[in-house]
Amino acid sequence: MDDICPECDAPVPAGGACLDHFHALLVLEATFPGAPGAILHFYAVATYNLQHPDSVGLTAEALHGLHRNLADALTGTVSLVALHRRAQRATNGSVRVRRRPDEPPVEWHRGPWPVNVVDVLTATAATYPDLIEAWARGVATTLTTHYQSLPDGDRAG
Ligand SMILES: [Zn+2]
Repeated sequence: MDDICPECDAPVPAGGACLDHFHALLVLEATFPGAPGAILHFYAVATYNLQHPDSVGLTAEALHGLHRNLADALTGTVSLVALHRRAQRATNGSVRVRRRPDEPPVEWHRGPWPVNVVDVLTATAATYPDLIEAWARGVATTLTTHYQSLPDGDRAG
């Protein structure tokens, strides 16, 4: 019998891990022309990370920054190039993006979500862009609803 991922609510095979779904998604994505390296790939990685604050282990600051980047990308206010620059700044070695093992879990939304990784795994080359965007939008909107006021108001860059 399937288990349920405690973070994103997706069904997980007994003894399996939700991360296996994500790896399967990356393999699937690689078969779609143009998808790897595109904004869709950023959506997929960001969305999975945002749905898994415990197993991915990002700090609260890193999660909020990622949410902001995803929301800005979805509204078209930031380009993929600018996103890569932001990511480089955020991970330039002076900033820690992962929690230490002894740190408590981040206060964050856990499932259910409008869309989860298993929903996206049904994609074909034709439906992949819409499914990924629906997944990303569902997560960005859910988080925005939960965190009306983000801890830092600096959206520049
Ligand atoms: Zn999950």
